[in-house]
This record gives sequence, structure tokens and C-alpha cells, in this order.
Amino acid sequence: MKVRVRFAPSPTGPLHIGGVRTALYNYLFAKQHGGDFLLRIEDTDAARLVPGAEAYINESLQWLGIKVDEGVKEGGAYAPYKQSERKEIYKRYVEQLLHEGKAYYAFDTPEELEIKRLEIKNFQYDASTRILMCNSLTRSEAEVKERINNGEQYVVRLRIEPNEEIHVFDVIRGEVVVNSSILDDKVLFKSSDGLPTYHLANVVDDHLMEISHVIRGEEWLPSAPLHVLLYRAFGWEENMPQFAHLPLLLKPEGNGKLSKRDGDRLGFPVFPLEWKDPKTGDVSTGYRETGYYPEAVINFLALLGWHPETDQEIFSMQELIEQFSFERCSKSGAKFDFEKAKWFNHHYLQQKFVDDLVKEFQPVLQSKGIFADKTMIENVVALMRERLNFAQELWETTSYFFVAPIIYDEKSVQKHWKPETKNQLSELMAQIETMADFGTKKEEDEALIMEWIKSKEYKTGNIMNPFRIALVGASKGPHIFDLTAIIGKEETLRRIKKAIEVIQ
Ligand code: GLU
Repeated sequence: MKVRVRFAPSPTGPLHIGGVRTALYNYLFAKQHGGDFLLRIEDTDAARLVPGAEAYINESLQWLGIKVDEGVKEGGAYAPYKQSERKEIYKRYVEQLLHEGKAYYAFDTPEELEIKRLEIKNFQYDASTRILMCNSLTRSEAEVKERINNGEQYVVRLRIEPNEEIHVFDVIRGEVVVNSSILDDKVLFKSSDGLPTYHLANVVDDHLMEISHVIRGEEWLPSAPLHVLLYRAFGWEENMPQFAHLPLLLKPEGNGKLSKRDGDRLGFPVFPLEWKDPKTGDVSTGYRETGYYPEAVINFLALLGWHPETDQEIFSMQELIEQFSFERCSKSGAKFDFEKAKWFNHHYLQQKFVDDLVKEFQPVLQSKGIFADKTMIENVVALMRERLNFAQELWETTSYFFVAPIIYDEKSVQKHWKPETKNQLSELMAQIETMADFGTKKEEDEALIMEWIKSKEYKTGNIMNPFRIALVGASKGPHIFDLTAIIGKEETLRRIKKAIEVIQ
């Protein structure tokens, strides 16, 4: 049987990072088996639809390189892939269940249901209570017909037999056995909007679209027994897809499910892309806008719930496709380690072409009025990128290459600027003046300056620390002669002179 999997989000808001992981695992599994990855939009709950959410889902998957084989945009042999366009299909299947007595009409109003809930503790619409209610099992056929013909609203419920064992086989969790008595007669269809509920549409579509594996978040595990019953009711048990319920993504502290609030509280995105809430106008930042590379997000997410056989941590999409397996997915939740996400981005940033980083950096420099020579920018980027997690940090990390310090860090000055520093730095300037090639060969520069320090019997730190303060404005930055090789002789001299004037 061909592997066919689907990612089936409901467009009720931005795709959460947990949803992205679900999509990714589906994709990896499908591609490993030369199968198909479908994107199905489950939009039967009209009240919860959010404008822009569907486009957001598409854009997110595209950004991440999760390619959809069949979907609303892509089309495919099982179209339409949007549930609101499949109304007529679901109707037929609801009618089949009604006709076979496996489902029934229920006319109870919300008020009547509320009264029952007050009357009966832990009320559940099931085999023990349905006889007390207003439905096609308790009313005559004629009355049912009349009510429907009069346009009375109804729902269709699945008739669940009590005390039956339901076996759910999950490839991650093994076999889960549930007694049918704990389930209520789930609503499958509502006449008010002519639409099925999630459960019916989901099962019918998985069957019709020939889905081989249902890979989804753990939060859907409680729905699985009902889905098994639906497969049974339709007589599709033989072709039932295999279930794989993925572990929850947990808060960084490990207690409870990761939420948007955790992201706000701890300062990390929980959405792949920036999202503007169409109602409130609130903007939530995304991984993309924070400066993450898609390959870093993929690598990071792949390891949240799946463990490779070796301690390899860096994986390309292709390697993930080759190595992914359900056997190595954990049953327990995966703690969201945000520092690790940065670590991955750091890694992928080191793999970028310098030229690409320069292209990203140039507009930032220009916005600051800096029109530096391209070679210089390349040198700065090549030298400094190992300190970065994000390309956006380029400016804050390297600004002193492009603009001379105008203020000097007080602590550094207090620590390193001594009464004799002024004279020593003046002498250093004189020494640099004599070095015709200063700034062109850094090893030579360093050797000559060190020799000079030694000949003067100065302490290296007494020269080099103030030298650094003069160049950078603080006790930080790269190796001094890497810096001077980039800014050049004239600028080095200018900065020393300025520091002497200002700090003295
Ligand atoms: N529409 C459901 C969701 O929003 C799909 C769950 C499933 O994959 O069965 O996640």
C-alpha cells in the first residue's frame, strides 16, 4: 500500500510551532517511503475560521521547504482538499449511517441539554441517556419526518454501543484499549450549517483520500477510539490508517503544554512566521523574522520528539528523511529548549556564503549612512560571524569596525587606563607611523609591535588593553591585529589619538 499522509490543520489562527513539527514528521515519513504528503484544510467549524490563516499555513510550509504533493493550491486526484468544498460528500456518508441505523437524528435544543446536565450528574449523551432525549430513537418515524420537514434544527449522532472494547493501535504508543461506554454519542453533522463535525469529515476524508498513516499531535489521541468506531460503522476497518500520535511540545520548564504565553514570557517565537491577529491587530513575531534559517528550524523541530540512533545533531532535510522512524519517537512530551534553537541557527549561519551575509548586511549599513567598501564588509563578516547566532546581530557585534568609538566604556577605562597610558600610546603611535605596511600583514604587525613592547620593557597588557579601548571603545572585540588589518593604518592612528584626547 502506498504511503499517503496528510497534514490537516484547521485554519483557526496561525500555525503553531507544534503544528509545524506535525507537518514535518508527516513529510519526512512520506518522503522516506516515496509517498505523498497532502495538505488538507479542515474548515468545517465556520465560527472559528480566521481570515489569513490558510495563506499563513501555505507560506509557512513553503518557507520551511516542506513541499506539498496534493493540496488546495497544488490540486490532485482526490480534490477538493478543502473540507468546506466537500459538503455533499459528507452528506452522503451521514445518510448511509442513518439509513443503516448506525446514527440517529437528535432534536434536543441547547436549553434542553443544559437542563439534563443540571438534572443528571456527569451527563453524557449515550446509550444510557439517549432514551430520555428527543431523537429518532425515541420518536416515531412520522414525527421525525415532520420535524425535519418543518425545518426544525437537528444534529446527527453516532449510535455507540456500550461496553465494547475499542482497540487503537498506535505505532508510537502501542495498543490502547478503551471501553466504548466512556464515549458519548458524538455529533457527526449539524443541520444548522449543513456541515459535518471534525470527526466525521476527518475520517471520511482519510478514507477517501487513501491515507495510510495518520500522524498528528497527542492532543488528538482521545479522538482515536471514536475514529476507530467510525471506520467500523462504515465497514472500512480493513483499510484503516495506522495512527501515530506525536508527543506534546512542553514548556521549557517541562510542566505542561507549550503555549504562546511561554514564548511571550521567555522571549521566543512560537510561530514560524510573523502573525498579525486580524481582530486585535496584535503582532506576534515569527522564527523567520527573528532571523532563523528554515534549515535551523527544521533541524531543531525534528529533534523535538525524535532521537537519532547516534549522537549526531546536525541534520539536513535529506538526512532526516533517511533516518526518521517512529520507533525512535518518544511517548513522553518533548521539552522546548530554546537555547538549542539558537545553537542550531548559529551552526547554519556559519555555513552561509559570506557573500550572502554581506548582501543582508549592506542595506543595514546603508541605513546608518555607512557606505563601506565591499571587501571590508566581507572581511568583517568572515571574521566576526562565529560570534553570531543571527545575521541581525551583525550591526551590534561589528559596528566599531565602521564607526570609531565616541564613548569609552567606563569600567574598561578605570581598569586599564593608567597615568602612563597617554605617553605609552603616543609612543605606540610613533611606532606604528614607522611601520610602512602596518595594516596589511597582521602577523608581521603583531610581531613588530610585540618586539617594540619588549624593547621598551612595558607590560604587554598595559599597552594592549588601552590600545583595544582606543579602537573598540571597550574591552571586547576580536584579536587586535585582525581588527587593525581591517580598519587600516590611518584609522588605527586616528582612533588612538582621539582616545588619548578624550580619555585624558
Ligand atoms: N483539524 C485537526 C487539527 O486542526 C486535524 C487533526 C488530525 O490530524 O486528525 O489539527
